Amino acid sequence: MNITENDKQYVAGTYARFPIELVSGKGSVLKDSSGKEYIDLGSGIAVNIFGAADDEWKAAVEKQLSLLPHTSNLYYTEPCSTLAKLLCEKTGMKKVFFSNSGAEANECAIKTARRYAYNKFGDESHSGIITLKNSFHGRTIATLKATGQDGYHTHFGPFPDGFYYAEANNLESVKSIAEENGCIAVMMELVQGEGGVCNLDADFVKGVYDYAQQNDMLIIIDEVQTGNGRTGKLYSYMHYGFTPDIVTTAKGLGGGLPIGATMLGEKVKDVLIPGSHGSTFGGNPVCCAGACNILSRIDDKLLSEVNEKSKFIFDSLSGAEGVKSVSGMGLMIGVETEKSAKDIAAACMEKGVLVLTAKSKVRLLPALNIPADELKKGIEILKAVIAE
Ligand SMILES: *Cc1c(COP(=O)(O)O)cnc(C)c1O
Repeated sequence: MNITENDKQYVAGTYARFPIELVSGKGSVLKDSSGKEYIDLGSGIAVNIFGAADDEWKAAVEKQLSLLPHTSNLYYTEPCSTLAKLLCEKTGMKKVFFSNSGAEANECAIKTARRYAYNKFGDESHSGIITLKNSFHGRTIATLKATGQDGYHTHFGPFPDGFYYAEANNLESVKSIAEENGCIAVMMELVQGEGGVCNLDADFVKGVYDYAQQNDMLIIIDEVQTGNGRTGKLYSYMHYGFTPDIVTTAKGLGGGLPIGATMLGEKVKDVLIPGSHGSTFGGNPVCCAGACNILSRIDDKLLSEVNEKSKFIFDSLSGAEGVKSVSGMGLMIGVETEKSAKDIAAACMEKGVLVLTAKSKVRLLPALNIPADELKKGIEILKAVIAE
């Protein structure tokens, strides 16, 4: 059995993988096929909130696996209904559509906004959606078009119309686009993850919210990466003191199994009607049972740990040798370095620490419950590699 050779021969070549084969993991420590251990500061790109193979999550998943792993959306199931209730109670949103990924969660948000516009205006004249430059919203054709980075659009056209890119942190840019085009929504990440862990200014976010309120435009917040405790609050919009009309999430919600959720606020809660949208696996009982466990454990105690660990990382790396700047929120952190981020990630891997990159930065997305000693060791090694 040769994992790497098989993969290179038979798996579509969309990923530039690191040259290691991971075989097992517990919490924030992963093991490769040679038995070498790694401290994981990426948690499967913000997915394994409680680390790998977390016992409580595993028990919830295994219980549902034995009861009923899959049915279809023709029937009611307990985990799906419980998860929707939990999400609504914790956010104030009114209804949830379940899918299997972040891109699909955003796809549903886009469809909902367009149908809302159609219901309101009786035609498609106001179906435009404003997104931000440097954003990332997914890999389907519509969410690629929503993604405000030209690099992702190369040679995959034709794309659907109706997406307009405003400058992040420039309210005038949002307003002038909205005035020139019939727009129904603004969709944004409050910390742009793939774009390089760039925080939006609070004034800008508030300005967009107020403008949208005045003009009956919807605010869609993409919490696929920032959600589920990652930034030190349950959802990142909770730092800004407003409630969006639509919140999308995925990654961490499933704790390691695929799930997407599109949360619908008061204005749009009844826009989707029977037949208007669907997903075969959406609301899968096993994924939802795991997600119920994850969501019920993101409490004030965990969030205050997230904020403490965040402070530790910011304090350790800000001003350190070879570090130009540190950005982000909670345990979603970007480190701008003098050396190439890719080289740093490769050198960290050699030394037993897994980190990610985003654009030209080193990106850290550790499990929210990473033990303090493992985090400390991981950051020390990263710091030494950056300074080398
Ligand atoms: C990862 C990500 C997506 C896409 O999620 P998938 O599950 O890969 O489809 C969308 N938006 C943001 C902000 C993301 O970080």
